Amino acid sequence: MLFKELASYYEKLEAVSSRLTMIDIMSELLKKAKPDEIRNVVYITQGILAPPSEGVEFGMAEKMVEESIAISTGFTKEEVEKEYKKTGDMGIAAQNIKVKSRLKRISSKEFTVNEVYDTMRKIAATSGSGSKDIKVKLLASLITASTPLETKYIVKYPLDELRLGVGDATVIEALSIVATGDRKLKAALEHAYNLNTDLGAIAEAAAKGGEKVVSSGFGLTLFKPVRPELAERLPTAEEILEKMGGKAAVDQKYDGFRVQVHKKGDKVKLFSRRLEDTTSMYPDLVEAVQKEIHADSAILDGEALAYNEATNEFLPFQATIQRKRKHGLEKKIEEMPLKLFAFDLMYLDGKDMMNEPYHKRREELEKLLKNGKTIVTAGSIIAKTPKELEDYFQSSIEAGLEGIIAKDLNSTYVAGARKFSWIKLKRSYRGELSDTLDLVIVGFYLGRGMRREFGFGGLLCATYNEKRDMFETVSRIGSGFTEKQMVELESVLGKIKSKSKPARVDALVEPDFWVTPRYVVTIRADEITKSPMHTCGREGDVGYALRFPRLVGENGAIRKDKSVEEATTTKEVIEMYRQQKRVSLGNAAEK
Ligand code: ATP
Repeated sequence: MLFKELASYYEKLEAVSSRLTMIDIMSELLKKAKPDEIRNVVYITQGILAPPSEGVEFGMAEKMVEESIAISTGFTKEEVEKEYKKTGDMGIAAQNIKVKSRLKRISSKEFTVNEVYDTMRKIAATSGSGSKDIKVKLLASLITASTPLETKYIVKYPLDELRLGVGDATVIEALSIVATGDRKLKAALEHAYNLNTDLGAIAEAAAKGGEKVVSSGFGLTLFKPVRPELAERLPTAEEILEKMGGKAAVDQKYDGFRVQVHKKGDKVKLFSRRLEDTTSMYPDLVEAVQKEIHADSAILDGEALAYNEATNEFLPFQATIQRKRKHGLEKKIEEMPLKLFAFDLMYLDGKDMMNEPYHKRREELEKLLKNGKTIVTAGSIIAKTPKELEDYFQSSIEAGLEGIIAKDLNSTYVAGARKFSWIKLKRSYRGELSDTLDLVIVGFYLGRGMRREFGFGGLLCATYNEKRDMFETVSRIGSGFTEKQMVELESVLGKIKSKSKPARVDALVEPDFWVTPRYVVTIRADEITKSPMHTCGREGDVGYALRFPRLVGENGAIRKDKSVEEATTTKEVIEMYRQQKRVSLGNAAEK
């Protein structure tokens, strides 16, 4: 497949506003790609070079891309910069310049998708002294031989600015249609994706081997992260136990960061909640895995937390995340050693444990970590009555923890999903509104009055509707921003703003600028209300909205650990609305 063809599909995708049409275009595109091309087509569409766990990055800053455009078109860097400022989009700027450039394409060579991808891999692989020039020249070589439309996407790809609006769920549906003619393979593809997380590899397998390969070929694999299981929420001990059939394991809930450990012999890898390889950031945890886990091979799930050895106290989340910074690592390890609270075991000595019932996995985990110092099992009890659950919740809160997570004793490990086999109960649920929400930024407003000087005046935020694979607006947020956050938001959002509504956004209100759904913010509100303004959970003329929403987040506004598909879902908001009603009715009855 020529890159030219891919570019014209991308142009079509950018122009559509219906998700169904998007799936049609995607399936036509994937059908056209040959089996040895489909993997790269999927990666490019996802805007990546490889799955996140492989950590392959382009390493190209805007300035370098500007230089590549200048070299390949005969324009000066200043002229490129000027066009970029004018359009606000490097891809469009490059496209415009290419149209005007008198340096016509020097050869009749037309690049294939694979050739473009291979050059991009070369760009990523080039490092060390002098690498900057080589990267710039490699990108320039692609631009030189490209049409203006191809140039647009060749420039956007390494800057992570493709913004096609195509989510993984859309690619999965399209793949199913290509392989079977309908959506029959969707569940098997999703399952494979949850265990393997390499959508390019899965697409290739579907193209080469069809249904069978996808259903049987993608199991749990050491050193490939599994998509983590997530928790639902309920407001009371009674409801949690009832949902779990009268008996449940109840874990203490630690407010740190999630770590998935993979180990074989002395080789260890750690993955984040977003499946990035974070091994090099936590050498103290790696050492502890090697010393304390006496199994030849294992995969386990846990939460890491910094603690103060002198006082034996856990540090709050804000302190713990400082351990994520690479700067001054050795000093940080000394000052803030980590403890890993393991709460699940997915693999042990060659055996896939994911389909074993939870109580069995926990039993094996306890045996495995019997003498652990740095790696210990999460505090846990078995509760048979609401009182037992409630008491454990209270004592966990008193110990400074966030709350508890109840776990269905008979459930398998449900990768990549938020199901009722895990239910969280947090301290914050006892307030007016249960929990904070993680919302997707879909637009922003300009500052007015005093705020004018920032050029930023507020956000339009949305929930994720999993069924529709769309983002539905739920709130306009105009307060709670610090100056630093406003500067951050303005600079980040300014780069991805557009005048037209992105395809996967469903909205009735119109912000000053739309932005491609890419960033998540945490929002606290007093209440969820019904409103005619928003599309979240809309039935008839009313949807859901937030009362007195404000931004939470002391370390920058944007939540870097969540992708937009991991934001609070519309279903969750509806459920939170119901729970809030029940709690307030309950409170009224108590009074
Ligand atoms: P979610 O991870 O559910 O999307 P979130 O990022 O807002 O939501 P929380 O609402 O705090 O996180 O709850 C779930 C998270 O709690 C898990 O992803 C995990 O990182 C953490 N956690 C802490 N202790 C435990 C435990 N004992 N069992 C499972 N998860 C735990």
